[in-house]
Order: sequence, then C-alpha cells, then structure tokens
Amino acid sequence: MDDCIFCKIAGGQIPVTKLFEDDHAVAFPDLNPQAPFHALVIPKLHVASLNDVRDPMMLGRLYGLAGQLARSKGFDVTGYRTVINTGPHGQQTVLHLHLHVLAGRQMTWPPG
Ligand code: AMP
Ligand code: ZN
Repeated sequence: MDDCIFCKIAGGQIPVTKLFEDDHAVAFPDLNPQAPFHALVIPKLHVASLNDVRDPMMLGRLYGLAGQLARSKGFDVTGYRTVINTGPHGQQTVLHLHLHVLAGRQMTWPPG
C-alpha cells in the first residue's frame, strides 16, 4: 500500500535494522521502545489490523516468529509479552498489522 509506513519498511524503502526476515514477515526494533527489548513483527502483505486478517496462518507465522525471536535473545527464560493493539480503544496507531514483542523488564497487569 502506497502510504503505509510498515509497507515501506517491508519493501525496503525505509531502512531498518532487520532482526529477522522471511518470505512472509519482517521483525525490526520499535522506534520508541517501551521495554529494554521491543520489536515489531509485521506481515509483508498489507493487512490493516487483526480485524482484517482472513488467513489465520498469517497470525501463526507472526507468533511463531515472535517466539523464535524471543528465544534467540534468551527471553524464553525470563519471559516476555506479545501484544497486538487493534483500533481506537486498543490504541493502534499504525494501520498495518503488527505484533509487539516486549521483554527485558517485569511487565505489569492489567495493561493501561
Ligand atoms: P501501535 O500503537 O500498536 O499501532 O504501535 C505502532 C508502533 O510502531 C509504535 O510502538 C511506534 O513506536 C512504532 N513505529 C512507528 N513508526 C516506526 C518506524 N518507522 N520504525 C519502527 N517503529 C515504528
Ligand atoms: Zn502496510
């Protein structure tokens, strides 16, 4: 999609440090980290939000990659949090599906 910042990241028009990439997804550090480790995992295909997912395999791939990323950094031992914000009440600010992977500090519950 032309005006989508995450499509531009996936397509290489906006350079980022890629933590992982395969045919379907890319992981990169969040610009405004909310934890010592904060990465985003996005599908290469533009899907605006969780509401718009039609192929559930897409979610399986994103979560699989998030787990792989967390394990590769040793966070399988201490734990981590994965979050998908959806829509206004979910405080989604970028309208291209993304999975947050946060780690490296104690999380709290409930989330704000
Ligand atoms: P959300 O509020 O769930 O839509 O999350 C969007 C996330 O994208 C925020 O945590 C932003 O810090 C992050 N973000 C926005 N632009 C960029 C960018 N160019 N590179 C990396 N992260 C970004
Ligand atoms: Zn997009």
